[in-house]
Amino acid sequence: MSRPAQARIHLDHIVANYQLACSLHPAGQALAVVKADAYGHGVVRVAQALAPYAPAFAVACIEEALELRAAGLTQPVLLLEGFFSNDELPVIAEQNFWTAIHRPDQISAVAETCFSRPLNIWLKVDTGMHRLGFALEEVAGACQQLLALPQVGRVTLMTHFANADCLVAPGVDVSTQLAGLAAARQGLDLDISVANSAALMAHPAARQQWQRPGIMLYGSSPLAFPDEVAQQLQPAMSLVSEVIATRWVPIGESVGYGSRFVANKPTLVGTVAMGYADGYPRQAREGTPLMVNGQRTRLLGRVSMDMLTVDLTEVAAAALGNPVEFWGLQLDANEVAACCDTISYHLFTGITRRVPRLYL
Ligand code: PLP
Repeated sequence: MSRPAQARIHLDHIVANYQLACSLHPAGQALAVVKADAYGHGVVRVAQALAPYAPAFAVACIEEALELRAAGLTQPVLLLEGFFSNDELPVIAEQNFWTAIHRPDQISAVAETCFSRPLNIWLKVDTGMHRLGFALEEVAGACQQLLALPQVGRVTLMTHFANADCLVAPGVDVSTQLAGLAAARQGLDLDISVANSAALMAHPAARQQWQRPGIMLYGSSPLAFPDEVAQQLQPAMSLVSEVIATRWVPIGESVGYGSRFVANKPTLVGTVAMGYADGYPRQAREGTPLMVNGQRTRLLGRVSMDMLTVDLTEVAAAALGNPVEFWGLQLDANEVAACCDTISYHLFTGITRRVPRLYL
């Protein structure tokens, strides 16, 4: 038998989550965000599963978009971060990719390029995130320039929220960003796209012509508060492995590197084939939850490169070969992420190549 560490990917859950996303605003359309190898779930299989439903995909860069084409997917693919070098432009048009544009010099690059077909552009507007995009007062001029170019097909306005996931925004909030975009759009008859998963789920005003759900497709809620839609999401990745050794550790003895865990009672320790080289976070705190034999227990000691140790003392029928789930159907990845000072996005995208993805 091969090493039991696996990421089981429930493609039917991804499809159901996508359909849930679409049902929130049937008048609009949803790009399926499949960047970063579909958030670690495997872009080709995920895109193939979504292909009958999704009118377009979104990725971070041209290399990711070309991977979809190489796999035979024919939908338009939006490059969320746009192009990094002007040489990409002819390929972007030829392949029917859509590109974000976020700096004025990129308009000049488009103007200077010959295309085999019109280029569809998503003009990124900085409404308060202050990461990428045109300032509000630059939008009208940028649109006029673009629309005057024979190379350009459709122009869509897009922006991205800084705090759509929280009830009380610690900085710029969704309404302020939406108001900024509405002001910048005045007099322009253009489609807009603003909603990531959090905005789509929790901010009805953000539901516009195009939504851009990512994390919710993978069954994880980005929201920092309880939500009805969040409850309907179905986890798409179960990260699993098995117990490969057990031992009783007496009082006062420690376990693993740095002897971080010291037994204060006789403890049945299970060693599990899963480590930080698989993407399980090394920073996981003592006591991070995980499931053994369907029962909740806790991480003991430090995570090693290829293994970690768990408390089996209270686990019924604890034995070699017991199934372990780190997150997935039995345990919310958000709960694990909170014990690692990170977010579920980071957990999913961190799973390494060594872990086979098994598609169900
Ligand atoms: N739109 C843009 C521009 C993004 O950068 C992202 C992801 O970071 C998304 C949409 C999808 O966001 P989420 O995964 O939170 O739904």
